[in-house]
This record gives sequence, structure tokens and C-alpha cells, in this order.
Amino acid sequence: MSKFLIDKYQKLEAYTPGEQPRDMKYVKLNTNESPYPASPKVVESICAQEIEKLNLYPDPECKELKLKLAEYYGVGYENVFISNGSDEILSFAFMAFCGEQTGAVFPDISYGFYKVYGDLYNVDYIQAPLKDNFTIDVNDYLNVNKTVVIANPNAPTGLSLSVDDIEKILKSNPGNVVIIDEAYIDFGGQTCLPLLKKYDNLLIVRTYSKSRSMAGARLGFAISSKAIINDLNRIKYSTNPYNINRLTLLAGAAAIDDSDYYKNCCKTVAETREYSKRRLSELGFEYLDSYANFIFARSDKISGEDYYIKLKANGVLLRHFSDPKITDYVRITVGTKEQMDILFDVTKKILSEV
Ligand code: PMP
Repeated sequence: MSKFLIDKYQKLEAYTPGEQPRDMKYVKLNTNESPYPASPKVVESICAQEIEKLNLYPDPECKELKLKLAEYYGVGYENVFISNGSDEILSFAFMAFCGEQTGAVFPDISYGFYKVYGDLYNVDYIQAPLKDNFTIDVNDYLNVNKTVVIANPNAPTGLSLSVDDIEKILKSNPGNVVIIDEAYIDFGGQTCLPLLKKYDNLLIVRTYSKSRSMAGARLGFAISSKAIINDLNRIKYSTNPYNINRLTLLAGAAAIDDSDYYKNCCKTVAETREYSKRRLSELGFEYLDSYANFIFARSDKISGEDYYIKLKANGVLLRHFSDPKITDYVRITVGTKEQMDILFDVTKKILSEV
């Protein structure tokens, strides 16, 4: 820390992203990326002619991409917001809708960035404990008079909340924004998009990083009421109006034109997830019933940390969290079937040695 950092940031604990090691080639099952490449149309969209135009600023309104997303999801143009990864929307939403007066509530086990944004923006937040079976207790979010933030499916559990439960939360908090982070919804679970017509306090956050194979392009979007989208724009235009680069805008629009390709990828990932659950059971693991592109699993035979370390030494990367409530577990991103088979072969070998 330099002597220049102002007081309020001195205790800030930053988010720790999953490892992106460069020392060797790993079977990388640690950051919930898609194992499949961007679609052929996306690849074509970034041609030399477009790269040459990098001397020009991108469209700050992201008009073309917004029009495509609005049409695809059956919402109005003014209901869409585009961001540099969905982390940026979450950041803007915490800035806009949470503070000392309007606090926030989110699960104690969830996407780690919620807490970091809470701390960064000095939010009076509550981390509602998940039940013993790792499900969300809806009662913790009713009439809370705070901004609600829930990932659905939740991460790192992969468990999903019903649209009925989300509606109860929306209905009981009419004076507050309810942020539903649907980063993983394309792999399973029910989207709450149909609730947009009824509730002006619903903010749905989506990302291209998982189901659209574009984690490296940094693209996210939000769908919400016109008023909430205007608030997010107010923050965007007060921080970084050109938040999406020209090439990402093109890739994002091309991906919508190639939706069948991505639907197929998601279907394969969901099938591989179910296959992997069966293989994990055979190896004596317990796991939660994930609807996402990852599986949260544990074994009586080896601790989460040891398993993570031994796998890494054998060239397979998973995510392990040190929080005592989940330290027994590892989060396994669903890769290709071939990648998963490598994981299971190495696991068999590790378990035979412990
Ligand atoms: N929400 C959840 C629940 C996530 O797991 C992630 C990815 N780590 C994000 C949001 C952010 O994704 P991105 O910024 O890549 O869109």
C-alpha cells in the first residue's frame, strides 16, 4: 500500500479472481468459462477492416447490440444496458442502489464480488446465511427494505431459486431494487424475465462470459425497467462512456446472430454436467444438484484443499474456497467430456494414494 491511498480504501479486501496460470497447460476447470470457442460468426466479425477502425471511439450507446438484444429477449430498447462484463453492472448497481441508508442483502455463500462491492461503496449489507443444505431461505429477503442481490443459479452452489420465490421477494420489496444475477441461467433454472412486465424494481444481470463463450471479450448486459436502466446510464456516463470496445460490440452482435450455436454448446455442457455427476457419485463424491456449468462437490476421502492441490500438481485446475462453511468443497467447471474424463482419471489415481 502506498502512503497516498486514502483512508477509506486502506482496509478494502479486493476480489480474488480464479487463477489464470501461464506456467504450463492445465485442464482448466476453475473459472466457469465455456470449453467451446466463440462461434464462427463471432470470429468473422473481427476482421482486419474492423481492427483498422480502432483509431475511432466505439458507439457509447451500443445501439446495434442493444437493438439485437432487445429483439432477442422481447423487451424494449430502453430496457437494455450494456456493460464491460457483468461485474461492471454489479459495480454500477451497488453504486446506484446501495449505500449507508439503503443497505443490501445477499447470501453469505454467493458470488464473492457482492461483498467486495459492498465494502467498496460503504454499503450497510447483510449476508444472509444459506440453509444447511445450501439453499436460499426466501424469508431472509422478504420485506427487508434493502437492495436484494441474488445469483440464480447461485454460485458456487449451482442451486436455483424458483420464479415464484423471486416474485415473492419482488412483491414484498416494492421500494427497493431486486438484482437477479442470471450469469448461469442458460445452463438450467428458470429465468425471471417474464416478471419484468409486472415489476419495475427487477434488475436482471446477464453475461456473455459463460454461455456465449466470450469471457475474454468482457461483455455483460442488464434488462430492467426504463428508469433503472437510466440510472445505470447515469453512472456509466459519469465514469466511462466508452466502456465497450469496438471489437467486443461487433462480437456481441454476431453472437446473437449465431444463437443456435450457443444453444447447442449449452445443451452439451448440461449433458456433460449430468454425466459428470454420475461419475462423481461412482467415485464416492457428494455434490449439490447444480443447474449451472459447474458442480460443487466434496469427498469424505480427501479434503477440498488437498484435492485441489493434488489435482493442480497433476495439471487439473479447480476452484477451492477457504471460507470454513465450504472449505470441504471444490467447484468444478464443466468442461468437455474429454476434459472431465481426465479429471476423473486423475481423481481415481489421487484417491488410490490417500
Ligand atoms: N456473476 C456471477 C454469479 C459470476 O460467477 C460471475 C463470474 N465470475 C460474474 C457475475 C461476472 O462475470 P463477467 O464479469 O465475466 O460477466
